[in-house]
Amino acid sequence: SADKEKANNVAKIKVVVRKRPLNKKEMAKKEQDIITIEPNSNSLTVHETKLKVDLTEYVEKHGFVFDAVLNEDVSNDEVYSETVEPIVPLIFHRTKATCFAYGQTGKLTWSGKTYTMQPLPLEASQDILILMNHTYRNQGFQLFVSFFEIYGGKLFDLLNDRKKLCMREDGKQQVCIVGLQEFRVSKVEMIKDLIEKGNAARSTGTTGANEESSRSHAILQLCIKRTVDGTESKPARLVGKLSFIDLAGSERGADTTDNDKQTRMEGAEINKSLLALKECIRALDNDQGHIPFRGSKLTEVLRDSFVGDSRTVMISCISPSSGSCEHTLNTLRYADRVK
Ligand code: ADP
Ligand code: MG
Repeated sequence: SADKEKANNVAKIKVVVRKRPLNKKEMAKKEQDIITIEPNSNSLTVHETKLKVDLTEYVEKHGFVFDAVLNEDVSNDEVYSETVEPIVPLIFHRTKATCFAYGQTGKLTWSGKTYTMQPLPLEASQDILILMNHTYRNQGFQLFVSFFEIYGGKLFDLLNDRKKLCMREDGKQQVCIVGLQEFRVSKVEMIKDLIEKGNAARSTGTTGANEESSRSHAILQLCIKRTVDGTESKPARLVGKLSFIDLAGSERGADTTDNDKQTRMEGAEINKSLLALKECIRALDNDQGHIPFRGSKLTEVLRDSFVGDSRTVMISCISPSSGSCEHTLNTLRYADRVK
């Protein structure tokens, strides 16, 4: 069918880079924008300032090519069109898709992950509801939302008072998160409220929200289900799934040297999960039979989204500033390995 053909044209793995504008603090500190992007191109250059042995400066250029490179003037709507929009119709046909936001999250040196990720499920659910109410009208499709967090290797339900959850695998290798609340939604406003509620429940310490939430992965899932006979009388079965993941700050993995034991353990866990994620996506790309899910809680939870007809979108968020050069290069190298 036309839908099937369309599905085949949507890349299995897409890696997109988004550069944010310099922020006020960076401008006040006279930091330079060190990222150049040619208009309408999918490549970028990082201009890294280095010192010679005699302490004179020189610039080393690092070139990268991705599936798409989005400059600072690109809107959130355009990010949606470039990443998630083409995937939405596929989840009515058994596709499981995952969209990640990857990047640093320092107090002053954020990369814009949450800013990038937050509007995407809203736009997607809007499109899903349009398809459900028109193209697939009266065919028994239903939309469900869940929202949880992985923090220190443990799962917490963001839509149910941070209830601790555990994971189980059923006989058919489907992942089941026991007790996770799922909300059936029929209006975009309902999803908006749920996202707000979930964001408010994200792990926040007394030291500041951004600081703590940067150590957790937030996972919002949109599930399409369908009743067997197309009516409301029978229970609905899962058809397709779209997961949005605001990953822990990539620089947090380096916290394994911190003096505080808790912070060190969290850093190790984040490091492990980001490495495992990269390995799983690479295995997907090579069509390897064996995908190393067991590497971390994050990849175990996503297990059923990596098998069968799956799609993966990685949005790597970067800061343009000279002060973030090292983190930016790390982010781009990670994305390059995933590609
Ligand atoms: P992160 O999740 O990477 O820590 P956030 O997404 O929370 O960072 O962004 C931090 C701040 O910067 C927020 O106030 C956000 O609105 C702003 N911001 C981030 N990215 C952009 C962008 N591309 N354009 C404009 N403002 C942005
Ligand atoms: Mg964030």
